Amino acid sequence: MTTTINAIKKPNAEAPFEFGTIERRDPLEHDVVIDIKFAGICHSDIHQAREEWGKAIFPMVPGHEIAGIVTEVGSGVTKYKVGDRVGVGCFVDSCRECENCKAGEEQFCTKGNVATYNGRQYSGEETYGGYSDTVVVDENYVLGIPEGIDLDIAAPLLCAGITTYSPLKHWGAGPGKKVAIVGMGGLGHMGVKIAAALGAEVTVLSQSLSKEEDGKAFGAHHYYATKDAETFKKLRGEFDLIINTVSADIDVDAYLSTLALNGSLVFVGAPEKPQSFRAFSLIGGRRSLAGSNIGGIRETQEMLDFCAEHGIGATVEVISADQVDEAYDRVVKSDVRYRFVIDTATIPASA
Ligand code: NAP
Ligand code: ZN
Ligand code: ZN
Repeated sequence: MTTTINAIKKPNAEAPFEFGTIERRDPLEHDVVIDIKFAGICHSDIHQAREEWGKAIFPMVPGHEIAGIVTEVGSGVTKYKVGDRVGVGCFVDSCRECENCKAGEEQFCTKGNVATYNGRQYSGEETYGGYSDTVVVDENYVLGIPEGIDLDIAAPLLCAGITTYSPLKHWGAGPGKKVAIVGMGGLGHMGVKIAAALGAEVTVLSQSLSKEEDGKAFGAHHYYATKDAETFKKLRGEFDLIINTVSADIDVDAYLSTLALNGSLVFVGAPEKPQSFRAFSLIGGRRSLAGSNIGGIRETQEMLDFCAEHGIGATVEVISADQVDEAYDRVVKSDVRYRFVIDTATIPASA
């Protein structure tokens, strides 16, 4: 049995969003039904909705930064109860049996996890994301949002927060480490806040200095414009860790030159085209070029608890359901401060 709910849908890669309905399954034994309050707009939504990463499933209801309230639970649910504040991130199931799932790294499930949208359940049905009224998710893939973080500023933590927290932890950001965050958009601004809270010395590398004041308020110690050629000369050999959040191509060699001995340049930004680098840029300082993909369920909960403890939420612009197309265009122009979040109460009833 299913329930018909309201959603913001993209019919194909070129068409604008429209309002309509989708079906959600009625809760199974271990399912949690969530009344979605806010859904963040991640640049990955745009890459997929515009088919920049390859063929996608349409109609698409994007949204993998979901925050809401539990309204119903299946008979076997033990982790959540009606009224709980919860979140859902980029995946809603995984095989639970492979080495990576067992290690709590479900984002690297060898069978392939079930993406929150633009994916398929193992049973074959399409998944639809958070630009909608409700979502039904197995309790093991639902996160608890701690008291003290409002739901609108919590939603972006489910992707932007964990995607920066995970590599910062993995590569040891903390006191005595010099960390650079490239690009101060949705991911980047969370990276700055989290790296600073971890105790690292944080530098923002942004295209211009237009957001310098904000970056410093988020906790950055230094701020440079990458369009200024002097920046790369000044910062030669400077950083232990660089997290690249840029959604477009970067000059990889220029950033590698700013790494200290044994430093790492970690890609979380996922542009559509391949990028190149010179081997000498790595060889010269025993440098590493790496990547990182969101985070597992356990680490995502750890990140939410860390953010609550440190008073960290996203800095958001709350928009209504009819502003999504415009918001996408603004994100692509780097004109977002610093995450658009849809107030899902504004989705008109089509059901
Ligand atoms: P966003 O809000 O658009 O931020 C990207 C930032 O990159 C912009 O704010 C801008 O920062 C900078 N930028 C944009 N175009 C640029 C260009 N042509 N040259 C140089 N800098 C540019 O996007 P987001 O939501 O943070 O996502 C960023 C990327 O991460 C996307 O590709 C997304 O798909 C990917 N992502 C990956 C994961 C993962 O698990 N690996 C998870 C989520 C998202 P400044 O204005 O400061 O220069
Ligand atoms: Zn995302
Ligand atoms: Zn698995």
